[in-house]
Amino acid sequence: MNGKTILQTMKPYKPGKQIEDVKKEYGLNKIVKLASNENPFGYSPQVKEAITDISTHLELYPDGYATELREALVNQLNVKPDQLVFGSGSDEVIAILCQAFLESGTNTITATPTFPQYKHNALIQGADVKEVPVVNGYHDLDAMLNEIDENTKIVWLCTPNNPTGTLIEEASLIDFMERCPSDVLVVVDEAYYEYVRPEDAPDSIKAIETYPNLVVLRTFSKAYGLAALRVGYGVATETIANLLNIVRGPFNTTSIAQKAALIALEDQQFLQDTVKQTLANKKKFMEFLDRMGLTYYDSATNFVFVNLPVTGDELFEHLLTKGFIVRSGEALGHPKGARITIGHEEDMKLLQDLIEAYL
Ligand code: PMP
Repeated sequence: MNGKTILQTMKPYKPGKQIEDVKKEYGLNKIVKLASNENPFGYSPQVKEAITDISTHLELYPDGYATELREALVNQLNVKPDQLVFGSGSDEVIAILCQAFLESGTNTITATPTFPQYKHNALIQGADVKEVPVVNGYHDLDAMLNEIDENTKIVWLCTPNNPTGTLIEEASLIDFMERCPSDVLVVVDEAYYEYVRPEDAPDSIKAIETYPNLVVLRTFSKAYGLAALRVGYGVATETIANLLNIVRGPFNTTSIAQKAALIALEDQQFLQDTVKQTLANKKKFMEFLDRMGLTYYDSATNFVFVNLPVTGDELFEHLLTKGFIVRSGEALGHPKGARITIGHEEDMKLLQDLIEAYL
C-alpha cells in the first residue's frame, strides 16, 4: 500500500470501558480495574505534594531537556546524559523510533502477540511488518533472526512481553545481539522491568556499550504508578539518542510529569514495597489457577495471561457485571484467554471466587 493510504485501513484507538461508565451501566459503587497493568497501590505519596504544588509555573514551557529527571536517571542507570530520550509515555518513544528509522520500502519485525504500538506506528510510516508467532508465550528469537533481510530496520523485543508476561533472559538477549546484523536496530521494551526479579533481569542498558544498535525503553507508567502523567524514556548510544531527540517535539513531557517522575524515582522504598506485594499476590493468584487446572504463561510481570475454557470476551462480560474489568484475549489475538493485572489481595480473592463460580 502506498504512502498514507494505509491510514484509511486503520481504526482510531478506542480505550476499554471506563470506570465511571461501568459504575453507571451496572449500578455498582466499586469497580476494580485489572485491565491495563497499572499499579493498584498508586504512586509514591511524596509525588502528591509535588503535583498539587500551586507554585508550579503553568504559564511557562517545561524544560525541554528534562534536566533534573535526566540527571537522576544518569546516576541511576550509569549512562551519559545524551544517551536518554524522553517521551510522553514510552508510547511516544516508540512512535519517534518509527519516525526516525522506518519508511516505505523498509520492514520491521515483531513477535505476535505483543504490544501493538510497534506495528501500528510502523504501518503509519509505510513500513512492512513481519510478525513472528510466540512459542509458549516466548519470543521465537531464532525465527525472528531468520526474518531479517536487507530492508529490516528495527526488531522489537518486548521483555517481559505484553500480553504473555514472559522474559527474555540475559544469555538469550546477548546471543540475539551477537547474531543480529549491527545495522539493524534492536529495541528492547522493558515497560515491566521493575517487576522482574533482580536476579533474572538482564543488564540490557550495560549491553548498549557492546552493541550500539541496542535501544532500551522504560516507563514511569507501570510500577512507578504514573500512567496518567505520561513519562517514558529510551536509552541508546548518543548517536541514536541525538537522532531521536531531533525527531521528538521540543516540549513533549510536561513540567509536572517530569517533577513527579523525579520524585517517584527517588522513592525507591515505595517502589520496592509495591513490587513485593504485587509479586506475593501474583504467586497466590497463580496457585489459585493451578488449583483450578487453568494454564497460564510464565509471567515476570504484574499481570498473568490465563488460558480459558470459555472465550476471553465471555469472562470479561461476566466479570464486568460484578465490577471487575479485565482484558479479554480477543483483541490480543488470543480469543480463549484473558490478561489479568494483579491487584490488591482482597480484590484478587473476590476475583478468584467469581472466576471459580463462573467456570
Ligand atoms: N510497552 C509495553 C510493553 C506496554 O505494555 C505499554 C503500556 N501498556 C507501553 C509500552 C506504553 O506505556 P507508556 O506509554 O504508558 O509508557
